[in-house]
Amino acid sequence: MNQEPMRIPQATAKRLPLYYRFLQNLHSSGKQRVSSAELSEAVKVDSATIRRDFSYFGALGKKGYGYNVNYLLSFFRKTLDQDELTEVALIGVGNLGTAFLNYNFLKNNNTKIEMAFDVDENKVGTKIGDVPVYHMDEIEKRLEEQNVTVAILTVPAQVAQPITDRLVQSEIKGILNFTPARLNVPSSIRIHHIDLAVELQSLVYFLKHYPVAEQEE
Ligand code: ATP
Repeated sequence: MNQEPMRIPQATAKRLPLYYRFLQNLHSSGKQRVSSAELSEAVKVDSATIRRDFSYFGALGKKGYGYNVNYLLSFFRKTLDQDELTEVALIGVGNLGTAFLNYNFLKNNNTKIEMAFDVDENKVGTKIGDVPVYHMDEIEKRLEEQNVTVAILTVPAQVAQPITDRLVQSEIKGILNFTPARLNVPSSIRIHHIDLAVELQSLVYFLKHYPVAEQEE
């Protein structure tokens, strides 16, 4: 019988990497069980939400016992495709792009930036953090040669859409967009948008208008 892959709500799916990272730490410190209250404190998600999230994948914590760390870890590993390496390309080797190339994403995830692209002749042909930088002219050919399915965009906003249009023609399935540009893509491609300036501004706004409660002594 053909089993449908399990669908979990998107909000739950977004919290999985957070849970996964914390459980990995627990596992390496030798802990076998964890309560939803402990998890809640560590990942700053309320325990009712955690219990509901975990119930989607059949992990039913027992009162006074908590959750089995090994069971949860192996579930997350499968769900988050941690056993399979996702190859990533980075486009735009400026300040932000360079920082990402030097950052070891493999530490926590099974994702690896395999190649980078730029139009600046001073950057093309170099290696940053072991990642080769190729010219944009080669992008279609290079992406085709390797199984790259995710692209990180750290280019100036005004060139983001034309570059995205080229990516759409390739095997790229997901784009992590760090430019302020809102990009048009067909529904077969998923875009996550991270605008660091907007995030910072929003944090400052919240601090001003919704001050956090003072910790009681
Ligand atoms: P830097 O100080 O190195 O210029 P930056 O982050 O301030 O970094 P940006 O102007 O944001 O620079 O550009 C980011 C990177 O995107 C640069 O390395 C630039 O050469 C590259 N870039 C610009 N246009 C394109 C393009 N059409 N295709 C690919 N890369 C591009």
